[in-house]
Amino acid sequence: MEEGRIYSTNDNWHAADIYDLNNADQLDWRCVGCDASVFPVAWDGLRKYKKSAHFKIHPRTRHENLCGIEQVETLLETGRSREIKSTDGFPDHLPSIVSFRSLTTIVPVEGEASKGGKLKSIAPTAPAGSLPSRASHRCQTQGIRRICEIYHGFPHLRGEPLRVPGCTGETYREIFKRLGNTEGPFRIQNKIHVVGVRYRSKMDYAQPELRIELNAGLKTEDETRRYQVVVDWREWSERARTLFKNFLEEKLNILQEQYQAAVKQKAPLPSVDMYFLGEQCAEDFLTFRVDHPQKIHLIPRL
Ligand SMILES: [Zn+2]
Repeated sequence: MEEGRIYSTNDNWHAADIYDLNNADQLDWRCVGCDASVFPVAWDGLRKYKKSAHFKIHPRTRHENLCGIEQVETLLETGRSREIKSTDGFPDHLPSIVSFRSLTTIVPVEGEASKGGKLKSIAPTAPAGSLPSRASHRCQTQGIRRICEIYHGFPHLRGEPLRVPGCTGETYREIFKRLGNTEGPFRIQNKIHVVGVRYRSKMDYAQPELRIELNAGLKTEDETRRYQVVVDWREWSERARTLFKNFLEEKLNILQEQYQAAVKQKAPLPSVDMYFLGEQCAEDFLTFRVDHPQKIHLIPRL
């Protein structure tokens, strides 16, 4: 399972986003679809793991009858190899509200952390009026990672409701926007942008701001100027920076190897989509700034 739910706050977290929570492995984690106890695996980023961060159900525990979370996992797996159709079933527990943890307010409840206790409240509240009446705790997720995976893997579910702070639109379809080659300057409304990464460009990880060049931009007869994402990671924790750098490097190294092999075999070239929620710079519309680790994600194209 990619996500777990903190029992005391009812917030869903992607396992890859919990590395900065205090005592993350001691929190009372539950399945996002039922009350079965789960625990995070390969989540802390301190060592190299063969598998990416995920949640496992406790031995001797079972999902409740109507949980359905395993169905979502199976469908996402299927979605990696072919398009999901409505006949494959309709997964419940789709995230419909996104919130972002403040980078500086992860504070254990006084006196609890030292005793190995649980964190009681660490996540911001949902935007006013946005909570659906039914099982709301099952629909709120931290950061854009999970909703990007859902968007990527479930093309037929794009009419489902979705609220992302700062974004215009109310469904998966309206909130995501693929960036293309444009013919002139225009301002793009607040969206989660999707765009291929120009993965053969060299990246300088030593800079206070990381520049990532994208496969779209302004094309004229004379020149091509590409969109770029500037990741401002100065306020991120050391661990957040290291994990993001490792994540990016690993994904891009694999792509470069796949690229070499594809060129040799004259096969289709691999590609990877970057998803980000960023601010378009006023002085240069081709540049977006992203300042939060929960606002950027990378997924190889199917
Ligand atoms: Zn369950």
